[in-house]
Amino acid sequence: MTVEHGGDEAGADGGVGSGINPPVRRVSDWDAERLSALADAHDTPLYVQDLDRVRENCERLLAAFRDADVRYAVKAHTGRAVLETVRGVGFDAECASAGEVDRALAAGFGGDRLHYTAVNPPAKDLDYVVDVAGSEPGLTVTVGAVDTLDRLAERGYDGRVCLRVNPGVGAGHHEKVRTGAAAKFGVPDDRAAAVAREASGRFDVVGIHAHAGSGIDPDQLDAHRELVSRMGDLARSLVNPRIDGEDTPDPIDLEYVDVGGGFGVPYREEDPALDLPAVADATRGALGDVPGATLAIEPGRYVVADAGVLLTRVNTVKPTPDGTVVGVDAGMTDLLRPAMYDAYHPIRNLGGGDDREPPAERPVTPVTVAGPICETGDTLCRDRPLARPARGDRLAVGIAGAYGYEMTSQYNSRPRPAEVALSDGDARVARRRERLADLTTLERDSRDRGGTDRSGADASRTESGADAGEVDR
Ligand SMILES: *Cc1c(COP(=O)(O)O)cnc(C)c1O
Repeated sequence: MTVEHGGDEAGADGGVGSGINPPVRRVSDWDAERLSALADAHDTPLYVQDLDRVRENCERLLAAFRDADVRYAVKAHTGRAVLETVRGVGFDAECASAGEVDRALAAGFGGDRLHYTAVNPPAKDLDYVVDVAGSEPGLTVTVGAVDTLDRLAERGYDGRVCLRVNPGVGAGHHEKVRTGAAAKFGVPDDRAAAVAREASGRFDVVGIHAHAGSGIDPDQLDAHRELVSRMGDLARSLVNPRIDGEDTPDPIDLEYVDVGGGFGVPYREEDPALDLPAVADATRGALGDVPGATLAIEPGRYVVADAGVLLTRVNTVKPTPDGTVVGVDAGMTDLLRPAMYDAYHPIRNLGGGDDREPPAERPVTPVTVAGPICETGDTLCRDRPLARPARGDRLAVGIAGAYGYEMTSQYNSRPRPAEVALSDGDARVARRRERLADLTTLERDSRDRGGTDRSGADASRTESGADAGEVDR
């Protein structure tokens, strides 16, 4: 596979699709007619996830990080169709909870392709994962605290462990996604070697791991380099311990050094796409040689972000002294990122409403796009220049495929949106729209049980194993 460095088109000869694999798909690149037809056929708000684009993103990652192990950080988008696509290209799955492990197993990932990252893990999650490891010994648990090692040992676990290190360097587009320097994540850098050596007496220590946060972009390449180079030094000190004096510790045969995810995606139209080959070069250069160990990465957002759009419909246009407010049927319950991270998502007017003028011919006016939820934060954008919206217009909210559907909620008693998966020209409902009755399912369930919670088995394996082949419900 070859990727043209920094060019507009990167050729991917992975044998899939048209062979044209651009580094980003902007909201303007989507076929407007197709999106409008999907909005009409499936109603709005509607997520559209293009699996062909997911595959292209995977192929660019594989081409840039040729010798690396790639683990998809499942939390960016856990839909079955996405998981199966990612499994199909050969990525492993990085899971942050028992639920994610369960979904990955159901999507066909074998234990040797599962990495469970335990962040302050609830007891139920540990019970579950230790149980899975009993039949899937290839599973790896990534651990960020000595306490978690002890809790694993108490459960009789002595399998594969990777040590998560807090490198003290963070990266990210927002304070809330910078994890590298936050004390919650990982064992402090200066204690990591000692903890790894102690752990190797009780477990099979196979790797070290660090994740700096989300949003490696051209400005933050230095922080990324710094993190990777510290990891390289730590790995070499474990593989080839050199300590003066008599008690040189035993070497630890590391299989890999995992430098996490965080590969940035250009949300703003004017932002350049990440130069993935340059990031890969910088990563390899900073890591240096670690005998016997491979580089591993854990991209989440990069795999799915630009493969998804959220379609919404204009229901109100209201002139106010502070500008025009455009009310739409998608809000922070459908896409939380703008409210939670002040995130920017590109928005395109697809037309189709009361104004018969095609959007391209309408005047561009600054508008605030607001959702239907009783919260001031419930806006998708403020004072954004947009082809003048009219009632009934469909809007496409771009780069919504990562942390979009995953962060939906039923706040304000709003059923979750539907999601359509595109693949090879086909469109199929990957997750049906929630109905009003879905809002009260749990209440009705507990009434039926006479008010006692007998759901204690909720950490048992639900979908994996016997009924893994079941169709989506
Ligand atoms: C969230 C997460 C990732 C992926 O981050 P992205 O920004 O989506 O690439 C990778 N590794 C770990 C441990 C994470 O928590």
